[in-house]
Amino acid sequence: MSKFHSNYMITMKDIVRERNEILHQPTQEVMLPPSDEDKKILTCMMNFLKNSQDPYLSKKYKLRAGVGLSANQIGLNKRMFVTYLTDEKGKEHEYTLINPKIISHSVSMIYLPPGEGCLSVDRDIKGFVPRYERIKVKGFNLEGEEIVLKLKGHSSIVIQHEIDHLDGIMFYDRINKENPFKLPENCKSLY
Ligand code: ZN
Repeated sequence: MSKFHSNYMITMKDIVRERNEILHQPTQEVMLPPSDEDKKILTCMMNFLKNSQDPYLSKKYKLRAGVGLSANQIGLNKRMFVTYLTDEKGKEHEYTLINPKIISHSVSMIYLPPGEGCLSVDRDIKGFVPRYERIKVKGFNLEGEEIVLKLKGHSSIVIQHEIDHLDGIMFYDRINKENPFKLPENCKSLY
């Protein structure tokens, strides 16, 4: 049994930092349908993201605001993640994905103008991270049902960042080594 039972509250001490090897190797596929334990872990992870974006709770428990969290970021070798973000129109986008796979993507690319950040990285890293503008992702939800998501914009960026975690890739691995602000030709700003 892991410590991530139903009312366990994930805090920054549970977050694995970039030096840990678990963040640099591909994670293992999760058995389906998800076990009760995996469901509890995913629920804890989602609660962490919501708490981290809550002004009161994030201050009280010293949580860094996050929009995505993958299982290996809490030290578990499992191919699953959660994301929670509110778009510019105030609409909430909440995803729990098990064994996700990008099945198709646009040729066009986008990047976040301020660069990307990560709960596992405690330093500020400058540079643009090119991402596909649109992706189609296949995976399984908490109930073990197959789902296909069509994503664009910020959600597309966040989910590619999380799928990269599950493949052992950090966001800075995608920044141009010679010039961190150099972009491919077909890559435009998210906003
Ligand atoms: Zn990250």
